[in-house]
Amino acid sequence: MTVSWTPHRFTGGLLALDTANTVVLRGDPERTFDRFDDPAEIARFADAASRFRAAELGDRPLAVSSAVAIAPVVLSIREATDRLFRGATSKGAVATTDLPGFLRACADGLAGSRTEIGAPGRPFGDPVTPIAFEAALAVSGLSLLRDDTLARLRICPNCTWLFVDRSRNSSRLWCDMAVCGNRQKASRHYRRRMAANEVKNA
Ligand SMILES: [Zn+2]
Repeated sequence: MTVSWTPHRFTGGLLALDTANTVVLRGDPERTFDRFDDPAEIARFADAASRFRAAELGDRPLAVSSAVAIAPVVLSIREATDRLFRGATSKGAVATTDLPGFLRACADGLAGSRTEIGAPGRPFGDPVTPIAFEAALAVSGLSLLRDDTLARLRICPNCTWLFVDRSRNSSRLWCDMAVCGNRQKASRHYRRRMAANEVKNA
């Protein structure tokens, strides 16, 4: 079954976080699954991310040469990103033990790349030509190390996705209020009703 890459699946707010969030329910061994199990989804994700992450990418589109060929490096950047920044979000500091693996994975993503990044208005290089997805993923992941970004990283208490909180007073709780916020509210409401019924029926 193909994945529908809806806006909700891009609530991480940055390419590296949206990619980390392609593993669903990481903390739940019974229910977790990987949306990249079929490598073809990497190309479809990159296509959607070119649109949803256009602001971060400075409008530079993402290109996937061969989804099967890049899958190992994409997955290794994704897993190293999740490990490093999930830890950093819960502890409030980056563990240097997780850095070498992350940096090596990013280096692999950039190994075949011949482009220039970071110019004003061109954070990922010239938007006229596409950038390889694995290279862009590394650039996005490395950008998370900025202390102002680190301070805004959050873990959604409902789905455990990583996201960047850009709200003015840094008070965003859910990755997506419309999905996770409402689900949580609904289950709280349900528990309250059940508790009330138990009292009534006692
Ligand atoms: Zn969520």
